[in-house]
Formats: sequence, C-alpha cells, structure tokens
Amino acid sequence: MTERLYYDASYMTDFSAYVTAVKEDQGGTWVTLDRSAFYPTSGGQPFDTGILKNVDTGEELPVTDVEVADGDVWHRVEGALQTGDEVLGRIDWPRRFDHMQQHGGEHMIAGSIWKLLHGTTIGLHLGKDQSTIDVTMPDGRTRFTEEETAAVEQYVNGHIQRNEPVRCWFPDEAELASLPLRKPPTVTEHIRIVDIGGWEMVACGGTHPASTGEIGLVKILSVTPARGKARVSFVCGERALRYFDLCQKSAEKAGQLLSATPERLADAVAEMKEKCARLESELKAFRTQDILRQLEKNSGVLYLENGDDRALQEAVSAYIQRPGRIVFAGAGGRLIFARSADRNEDMAALIRSVARGGGKPDMASGAGGRDAVLAAARSAGLL
Ligand SMILES: [Zn+2]
Repeated sequence: MTERLYYDASYMTDFSAYVTAVKEDQGGTWVTLDRSAFYPTSGGQPFDTGILKNVDTGEELPVTDVEVADGDVWHRVEGALQTGDEVLGRIDWPRRFDHMQQHGGEHMIAGSIWKLLHGTTIGLHLGKDQSTIDVTMPDGRTRFTEEETAAVEQYVNGHIQRNEPVRCWFPDEAELASLPLRKPPTVTEHIRIVDIGGWEMVACGGTHPASTGEIGLVKILSVTPARGKARVSFVCGERALRYFDLCQKSAEKAGQLLSATPERLADAVAEMKEKCARLESELKAFRTQDILRQLEKNSGVLYLENGDDRALQEAVSAYIQRPGRIVFAGAGGRLIFARSADRNEDMAALIRSVARGGGKPDMASGAGGRDAVLAAARSAGLL
C-alpha cells in the first residue's frame, strides 16, 4: 500500500521513494511506489502530473497519469523503471495548486448552498476551464434566483476574505461520531475530514489549501438544470482572474466598436439590433418594389441571378393582384410561377414541365434557373 504523502502535506512537491511494482496496462508502463505525493484521480479532482527521476541513472521520466488501485498509487511513466529503483518525484505545482483552489472553492460553495438554501451537493466535476457541482434542492427546483446565487457568492467570498484556516485529519470513531458533517461519509474506513473555518465540514481525501485566503476569489458562472438537479458552474482563484481578464478585454473591444462603456454595452447592443431590424425591413421593402418594377417592365418574365427569393415572392404576390397577369420568375435558383385569379393556367403543371417543383394552380414554386423561366415563358407564348 502506498503511503499518501499529500494527506498530511498537500504542499509537498518533491519526495524520494522506491518502486515497489511495475506493470504494463492501457498501452503504457505504470509503477507504484512505497510513498507518493502524486494525487491520483478521485473525488472529482484530476491526477497530478510531474516527473519521476531515476536516482541511479539520472533519467527523468514524465508522469502522465496517476490512478489508485487497491490502496496503491500507480504512476504512468514515459520510460522504464524496475522494482527496487530509487526515485525522486516532483509534481507539477501550478497544476496541483489550481486543483487545490478549485477543490477548496467547491467545498465552500457546497457548504454555503447547504447553509443558505438547504441544497445537497452530490458531485464535483473539475473541468479544464470551469468546474461544476450538481445540487438537489429540497423543493426539487433546478434553478437559483439571481439573489440566491449572489448570496452564495457573497457568503463564500466573505469567508475567503477572512482567511479562515483549513484543517484535514483522520479522527477516531468517537470523535467522528461527534462531528457536524454536512453529509455522511461515503467510505467506512480511514475517514479523513476537512474542516473549513469551522462552518464547512465533510469527509474528503483531496488536497486543499491551508487557508481560505489562498482560494482568492470564487465566481459562479451559471446555474442550469441538469438531470433534475441544479448544475452550478464556477471558477476559483487564478482561473477567476483569467476569466475576468477575458470578459473585460472582450467587453472593452466590443465597447470600442460600439462607442459604449462596458456598463452601457448591453443597451448599445439592443439599440444596434433594433436598428438592424429596421434597416433590414426597409431594405426588403425597397428590393420588393424594385423587383415589382422589373416584373412590370418585362411583362412578368424575370430571372435574377443573385436575387432574394423572399423579396421576389412578395413582388410576385403584388404583381398578380391585377387581373389577367401571369408570371414566370426566379431568383437564386428558386422559381415562382404564378397567375392572377381570373386566369386558368395550371402553374403547378407548367413548372413541372420545365423543372422540379409543384404547388397550387395559381402559384407554384420549384428549383431551376434562367433557362427554365425562358422555356416556360416561351411555351406560354410570352416570348
Ligand atoms: Zn476536499
């Protein structure tokens, strides 16, 4: 069984150990050690990466995955080691500390959701960009109000600013029974407890910062329904700073384009959308009038290579309001053949005689080009 050095020393980056077994698995070489500071994927926290250095040869082998099996921590290495080899391990600290910040923040969010909203958190997923927890609310709802989300954020960040201590230990049975845990442990042996500032206490085998201040900042990004639960997405620590940086730069760029401050950005976008919709409708009306003029000029025979078929449709509808008219028209590969109500040609049959399509006797549509329009107009004696 591997001694887990991170249980008592979550800041340990360098350690020495002996290889106790080697195996080939999942297309790679895995070694287990008598002791390790590498965290294996568990409880939603991803594994550590780093190196194992062979003390005899000086060779440094990258560690690319870490898993736990039957109490042993297995390290996937790029290279060869043998049982009995002495190694110096070094974990990738920025990666681990990021995980500690997200994991510590997760405890605080779950603890405050329990305290303020009586919601039960059931799972942590620590993602590459953001992390999520799923919350079961007492009344079964899958969303928080804006005020609830803000209250959770304020509660958590308030405790971060007070820089409260975070303590991890293995209590004996009697002490364990007396502890006010947020939820019952999922394991029955070697139960490790994490206590954050005396208000969030739960069983956990993960790595945590020594005090809440090191988490820096917690920001909830969204609360969305997911399989009957409320899924809370969040970022903590350095990630929260990077996220703020991204949002701020993007708001600044958009603000420059719209000549608006970031605070006025949403209003400026709404105004722009309204203006675009007005211009689009004016443009459509203008195009329709233009096509109608061309239909009049060409006695209803018209094909527009790059035309807008919606504008054509409206122009055709307007054109056949007058009695005695017939239209063979098309735009951008779409055909519209139509006639006034007082005529009796079957436009659907006419369109099928020159292209693929169909419709009603007085108005039919299909797919085709200029040749189809000209052929139909010729057969009807218009050309
Ligand atoms: Zn934890």
